[in-house]
Amino acid sequence: MSGFDRFLVVDWSGGNDTGPRARKDAIWIGEAGKAPQYLRNRMAAEDALSARIMAAEAAGERLFIGFDFPFAYPEGFAERLTGGRDPFAVWAWIAERLKDSPQSNNRFELAAEINDRFPGTGPFWFNGTRKDLPGLPRRDTRTGHGLPETRRAEQRAAGAFSCWQLGGRGAVGGQVLTGVPVLHRLRSRFGSRISVWPFEAPEAAVVLAEIWPGLINDVVRRAEGRGGIRDAHQVRLLSQALAQLAPEVLARMLAEVGPEAATEGWILGLGHEQTLQRAAESLQPPPLRNDCFALPAGVDWTPVDTALGLLQARLRPVTARTEVPVLQAGGLVLATDVLARRSNPPQPNTAVDGWGFDAAACGAGPQRLPVLEGRSAAGRPFAGTVPRGSAIRVLTGAELPTGVNTVVLDEDVTVGAGMIAFHGPLKPGANTRRAGEDVGIGAVALAAGRVLTAADLALAAAVGHGMLPVFEPLRVAVVSTGDELVEAGAAAGPGQIFDANRPMLLRMAERWGYVPVDMGRVADDRAALRRTLDRAARKADVILTSGGASAGDEDHVSALLRESGALQAWRIALKPGRPLALGMWNGVPVFGLPGNPVAALVCALVFARPAMGLLSGAGWSEPQGFDLPAAFEKRKKPGRREYLRARVRHGAVEIFASEGSGRISGLSWAEGLVEIADGAQDIRPGDRVRYIPYGSFGI
Ligand code: AMP
Ligand code: MG
Repeated sequence: MSGFDRFLVVDWSGGNDTGPRARKDAIWIGEAGKAPQYLRNRMAAEDALSARIMAAEAAGERLFIGFDFPFAYPEGFAERLTGGRDPFAVWAWIAERLKDSPQSNNRFELAAEINDRFPGTGPFWFNGTRKDLPGLPRRDTRTGHGLPETRRAEQRAAGAFSCWQLGGRGAVGGQVLTGVPVLHRLRSRFGSRISVWPFEAPEAAVVLAEIWPGLINDVVRRAEGRGGIRDAHQVRLLSQALAQLAPEVLARMLAEVGPEAATEGWILGLGHEQTLQRAAESLQPPPLRNDCFALPAGVDWTPVDTALGLLQARLRPVTARTEVPVLQAGGLVLATDVLARRSNPPQPNTAVDGWGFDAAACGAGPQRLPVLEGRSAAGRPFAGTVPRGSAIRVLTGAELPTGVNTVVLDEDVTVGAGMIAFHGPLKPGANTRRAGEDVGIGAVALAAGRVLTAADLALAAAVGHGMLPVFEPLRVAVVSTGDELVEAGAAAGPGQIFDANRPMLLRMAERWGYVPVDMGRVADDRAALRRTLDRAARKADVILTSGGASAGDEDHVSALLRESGALQAWRIALKPGRPLALGMWNGVPVFGLPGNPVAALVCALVFARPAMGLLSGAGWSEPQGFDLPAAFEKRKKPGRREYLRARVRHGAVEIFASEGSGRISGLSWAEGLVEIADGAQDIRPGDRVRYIPYGSFGI
């Protein structure tokens, strides 16, 4: 048996239609390397699966499809129901009797009917309908049905449910009753082109197998902690994990089944949980090194550029790669180069409405050409050949018919009976677009690292892409620290101030295209801060704190990071905002920004912004500055870089009247920052200074 070309994993559902918008507890199909597909009901899912099977067949590819429900019942069930041990006979039996539509199905009634055929109460329980069903208890009050509670496979899968339970959290019984008929129909439809593992050798072009996302539960839970729909994570991670396995490892998993598998079925990968988890995890980039924020030893005040150089050298993307439809890719970071699958334009076409002909038959001076019957319009090309010396009607965007290489504009033509007249000469190729003149097939249309713009989406679509490889968006947790802080708008007592940094930093993260994760305020209390950082590290890819970043008694962010051995106290030669506490918390980078709002903003713009660009996959970027005359005076000693709140009026850079770093009004007054270089400066009005608008920082 050779390997598979594609891996699909299906999360089934026994419920009714779940509506047009993707949601949980619905049907999801994951395919390695693609974004999970949401399906609102089983009919749509059956169609989608048939289509995938046919597409794979057409492409000559081998397809593996895993389903997350048992393919058979515990020993003894088949015999009682059908008189034999063949699991496919059970499939046929159920398929014949299950009535299913998007809005309703009779799975509970059918289970009651099956129960009637067994001694005692029968094996099934959990009536999920409004009306009482005499044959199906609401709770587990079963007696004497005489069958095992679970299959041998489930006894080895910690946390797996019994297929007798038809409803309730985690139950799988309804999936079996509604899923088996679909498998039965796929099998009848595709015949020997499908084999069903483990009842048949997994050698056909398409193999259906039972899998269970519970085997990679830890990885799923971590992904879910960062948001998104659990079912979608399950099918994405499991399909990718299967695709990552070496073919011989998968072959071993397919070969290792219990002796009862022929009648009870088996869960693929039982006993290989570690291997599957590792395969699922290998898609997640490894965490950053704990020392990635270490500054050179023995330096008292680190220059801004040295600090930036270190960040640039040591940080790299930390989010997983995925694929999303072009329609949803705006603002996301492209994970790999995107090559043109098709040229743009794909074929030579006309740029105007007019008349097409071969330029070789057209000289200088007045021209008269006979007109051919028919026309070429966009999407409706002319099938015939245009003889040299004849013209044909062409409309903008239409493919040039054979024999046409030049077009004369409507406005320049006099149309008579069966003839057109115009003045030559016309340049060969006039008013036409060459195939590939915009982008040639195979050319790099979009480079990895681009934050996809509206225009990029147009280009990606034009060169043939429906899905784009992107990084999952960076999740940025924001925490404010300080006993004095109260929530904006709440009652503030003496000595209290409103938390101004959190709304600012959350909005900045959002403007940069990241997912802001609001972690609220934390008092100056180390245990509380520890708990918040723990939670933030589970929910986000990077943590921004403000306040408590210096080395004082109440500087708990730096104290906590130091206590856990993670602190890199950055003393940057920068005004405002010298104390910065950087470190790794449970593998997640923490930027401990100063509490002063002005310093918090400057440090976020100068350090956190480019650093997060690298973490997100977008790469390093320097803000575009402009050299403009100063409308102010400023003297400073050498030794540190300064950023002043500034704006441009009448072509010159003004600065805010006060440099006080608590002056929030100045931040709002400003429309950018002026960067004063590290050396000694004596700036006079009219001298050129470097102005960086907020827009260049993306805020
Ligand atoms: P810290 O860095 O904690 O010493 O705080 C420096 C200054 O910034 C103090 O005056 C704090 O009250 C103030 N501050 C800290 N956090 C915030 C915040 N989230 N919003 C407004 N001011 C703050
Ligand atoms: Mg504080």
